[in-house]
This record gives sequence, C-alpha cells and structure tokens, in this order.
Amino acid sequence: MTETSYRIHGATGDWEVVIGLEVHAQVVSQAKLFSGAATAFGAEPNSQVSLVDAAMPGMLPVPNKECIRQAVRTGLAINAQINRWSRFDRKNYFYADLPQGYQISQLYHPLVGEGELTIDADEKAGIPADKSIGIERIHVEQDAGKLMHDQHPTRSYVDLNRSGVALMEIVSRPDMRSPAEAGAYLRKLRSILRYVGSCDGNMEEGSMRADVNVSVRKPGEEFGTRTETKNVNSVRFVMQAIEYEAQRQVDVLEDGGRIVQETRLFNPDTGTTRSMRSKEDAHDYRYFPDPDLLPLELDEAFIEACRTSLPELPDAKRRRYVEVLGLSDYNAATLTAEAETARWFEALLAEGARIQKKSEGEVAKASANWLLSELYGALNRLGKSLEDSPVDPARGAELLALVADGTISGTIAKQVFEIMLETGEPAGKIVEEKGLKQTSDTGAIEAAVAKVLADNADKVAAYKGGKEALFGFFVGQTMKAMQGKANPGIVNELLKKALG
Ligand code: ADP
Ligand code: MG
Repeated sequence: MTETSYRIHGATGDWEVVIGLEVHAQVVSQAKLFSGAATAFGAEPNSQVSLVDAAMPGMLPVPNKECIRQAVRTGLAINAQINRWSRFDRKNYFYADLPQGYQISQLYHPLVGEGELTIDADEKAGIPADKSIGIERIHVEQDAGKLMHDQHPTRSYVDLNRSGVALMEIVSRPDMRSPAEAGAYLRKLRSILRYVGSCDGNMEEGSMRADVNVSVRKPGEEFGTRTETKNVNSVRFVMQAIEYEAQRQVDVLEDGGRIVQETRLFNPDTGTTRSMRSKEDAHDYRYFPDPDLLPLELDEAFIEACRTSLPELPDAKRRRYVEVLGLSDYNAATLTAEAETARWFEALLAEGARIQKKSEGEVAKASANWLLSELYGALNRLGKSLEDSPVDPARGAELLALVADGTISGTIAKQVFEIMLETGEPAGKIVEEKGLKQTSDTGAIEAAVAKVLADNADKVAAYKGGKEALFGFFVGQTMKAMQGKANPGIVNELLKKALG
C-alpha cells in the first residue's frame, strides 16, 4: 500500500480529504521569549508578568537565547533547514488579552525552514509505510494572555501570565489525507518534541494546540478551498474536527454550494465545528519588521552545539532496538513512542546487564517482555503511569536477574512482583523470607512426579496410548505439587524418564 485509501463517499463519487496542521507548541524555558518573567503553569493570575509583558511604554524586548536554542533543536530534530538569518515581525491586531496591540512573530523570515517527519505505518488505520509529512516552517512567536469570563457575573478579567511566553508555530504541508494520518502526525510530533525537551506536549494544559486546515477534492483534482478550525487541544478532537468538517464540505459541495475560506471553532461536546469569522489575510495584520529587535543571526558553533545536544530520536532508537537489541518491531515501537518509556526501559537494561554480567542485547528480550506485559499490566490495574511506578528500574532488574539465574521460576516471579508492588521490598528479600527459591532438589521433584503419575493412572495410560499432549498436564500438576518452586528443566527431564 502506498496511497492513503480514506475516502468520503458522496452521491457524485468519492472525495479525498486534504489536511494541513499548524501546531502551536509552548517552548520549555524558564523565562518568556522577550522578558525574564517566569512561565510556570498554574501560577496565581498575573503573578508572572514583567513590565515588558504588560506592554508598559518604553519597555524593550530582549530575545531569550534559550527559546531560540529550543526552536533550533526542534528544527534539527525534523531535519529542517535552519536559517542563519531570521527576523521578528509585528502582527498588529486589537484584543483585550494582547496589551501591546501586536504580537511579535515571524512571517517573512522564519527561524526554521523546510523539514519533514515520518509517521508510523498502521495498516488497520490505512496509513501506508514510510509516509512522510512535509513541514513548511517553524517560526517563533509570543503567546497572548487569557481572558476569564466566568469569575464574576458582569465583569471579565485578564490573566497576563501567558502573555509573552514563547511558542513555536510548526506549519505542516497539506500532506495528510485522513483523520488517522493527522492523528499519527500529531502523536509523532509530540513524541519528538518530548524527546528533544523543547515542549512538554501537554495538550490538556494547552502547551500544544493545533489549527486544523481541511479541504476536500475529487482524487486527482486541484486542492479545494480550505477552512481552518482553530485551537483544537487533543489528538482525538483534531481527528473528530477533520471528520466532521470534511463531511460538511462534501455535503455543501454536493448540494451545489461552495466552500468559503473561513476560520471555524470546534465544539468538543458535540464534535462539530461552526463558523467564527471569514478568513483574514496577512495584509489585514499590517505585518512589518519589529523595529525594537535586531535580526537574529546564528553562527555555526551555536547550531552545532544545538545539534550535539540532541538525544537519540524515536525513529533511530526504534531501529536500534530492532537491529542491535533484537526486539520485535512492535515492541521496539511501543518502547520508543514516548521518551519516558524508553528512558525507563534503558535504565532497566543497563541495570540488568550490570547485575547479570551480560550484554544489553542478552537481557533485552526478557526485559522488554516483562515491562510491556507484567509492569504495564500492573500499572494499568493501579491506574498509575510509568513515572509513578511503585517499582523502579533497578528493582525490576533485580527481579529479572533472579529468574535469569534460575533462583526463581517465571510463575514465582509473578507472585514476587505482586508483593513488591504492595510492600516496595526488593525481590531478593521477598524470595528469601517467603522461601520461594526454586528447587533443583531431584529427590523432592522425583517424589512429586511419582505421586502425580500414581494419582492420574488413567491419563498415564492415555499418554502411553499416544495422547502426547498430556505431557503438559503432568508438568503443570508436578509444578503445582511443588508450589511452583521446582526447576522446570528438571521437572521435564524427570517426567520424561518416568513416563518412559
Ligand atoms: P495561512 O498563513 O493563511 O494560515 P498557509 O498557506 O501558511 O496559510 O497555510 C496554512 C496551513 O494550511 C498549512 O498547514 C497548509 O498545509 C494548510 N493548507 C494550505 N492549503 C490547504 C488546502 N487546500 N487544504 C488543506 N490544508 C491546506
Ligand atoms: Mg494560519
């Protein structure tokens, strides 16, 4: 499959959906883009506002190097061109949450140019392999304040804490062709931003939000007129907005109407969009170069330092997990999708390799399986995330080492793990105290085997008559008689001998 097959079926034939996303991502930095005020989320209203953010007369903006560095690192992470020369422009408009009367942004000369991102293939969702989404640009701009209309029956308030916070606007090419692809793009972008550490990606807190551009066309025809649905704040809502908007456009067109280019609003309660205003053009904003700011000029050393500061990114990590660690592609994808998961897994690996005196490759499979099934299963049950897991990587590695060296069986390991979750105690101590060590005591196992065979004479006869599948039953019964503590290799061996 090389093409997206998502289509909307209409009376006049099939329609293709065209999607481009403009993502606003709040830059992780201590201070704002042009002032020293703090950026912490959830602070007391108007407690993080400098005179610059309040637009007091005579205040001058000073670019925050850290914000520029974060945007450049992000650009490098999507293989984008970094512009050595860029410039800030004023975008003029009036609104009560914008004390300056203009937003400082970059229209003509953005910091980051052309880049791209590969979304993950998903056959079920109709996403072809190696589909790459073009990114047109990333520019840096200020966020506005926030109006609060629900604090008082007749008054509105403004909170300027967010005013002046640095945003990256990441503008995609109209390369997506289905809601699923848009969802995959957002998830991949968020994953990369979190790996890079340039944005925390928390859509619920508004640190990442998307303007969703949608148009429809008959396959092979020119692009249709698009609408832009503003400020959608979850992956699911973006997908819903596209689905609704594409269907609405098809209905309008099939009724002989035409689509007007406009800005729309998404209603999360109904999953629908409604018109907000007709589309404004760049000239309505009277953009001009901000006279308070010099152009940004980056030298090679700065860019190189940004490049070397980048961590291993999700695609490269996933490939390494498959090629070097020998993991399945599915496990590699799951472990690398979020930076936090990969960090946890790598800590588990490093510790496992150290205590078992093996290579990371040798302990990788068991570690991955345990993390993805046992640990995730437990966290799901407890409603916890990896970050607040009651068992840390070192403790996990210790448990796995006890299985690897034959001290306990896999079955007992599950019991030990449950106790670890409850008590926080190390595996070794639990095994010791509860006497859970696996036994290789052939005498005891032999006795158990003899009893199991004696108690199940009918099955023994059936086995000898050719029902070989019963072997597993005997193993299970013997393990049960040994309370799970028998060395499974020895159980197998002794059973085979006893059954002839
Ligand atoms: P503006 O600056 O007016 O918002 P841009 O040309 O920068 O317009 O495009 C904004 C976004 O709209 C981009 O993400 C782009 O991919 C998307 N886009 C452009 N044309 C279309 C179209 N016909 N259908 C869907 N999306 C589109
Ligand atoms: Mg736009």
